[in-house]
Amino acid sequence: MRLLLVEDEPDLGAAIKKTLTQEAYTVDWAQTGTEAWEYLQTPETAYDLAILDWLLPGISGLEICQKLRQQNNPLPILILTAKDTEADKVRGLDAGADDYLVKPFGMAELLARLRALQRRIPQFQPQEFRVGCLILDSATHRVSIASGNSVELLNKEFQLLEYFMRHPSQIIPRDRLLSQLWEWGAEPGSNVVAAQIRLLRRKLEKLGAKDAIETVYGVGYRLNLDKLSS
Ligand code: CA
Repeated sequence: MRLLLVEDEPDLGAAIKKTLTQEAYTVDWAQTGTEAWEYLQTPETAYDLAILDWLLPGISGLEICQKLRQQNNPLPILILTAKDTEADKVRGLDAGADDYLVKPFGMAELLARLRALQRRIPQFQPQEFRVGCLILDSATHRVSIASGNSVELLNKEFQLLEYFMRHPSQIIPRDRLLSQLWEWGAEPGSNVVAAQIRLLRRKLEKLGAKDAIETVYGVGYRLNLDKLSS
């Protein structure tokens, strides 16, 4: 899941980003409203969730929220702010925010609120993905095959396999994997995709799903349904 975090306080932003990354979110962190708006208007970064601080240099989090809603963008938004009066909360929610968290807050509460937002989007409810004989459990990050063996995936392996299983048999360009599953700006080069695919393939091989992820030379990768017949 790709998340945009907009927070201008460096320590807080870094702490939130670290927590979210540990929870397998792919996080782009913008420190000004202007930067955040650019990220949001970049077609390569389709965000699943946004955390917006209210008071920001440039455009405020509240204005970003309003502008997105004017564009009929349904992106789930959590507003963070030290503004804690009832009137402020009403303003935030009326601007189109889905939830509102007052600073200071604990990371456990932030994560719980994000999970609550995700529950409202059917697409992101913890679920089992099934493609051919492969079953991926998004709550436990375990992948299994119909015959019963299973293996736990690390965050990036899980994100990759989830992406492939959401787009079965499509050829997925390496650049798209990089832009969807890796952070913007911190792009470590194309080798990192190949390296993670190798790790994922090794785990799938252990389950007996050899060649499940096919390389389409010069283009990208594909989840090969022929290799996954149950
Ligand atoms: Ca701020």
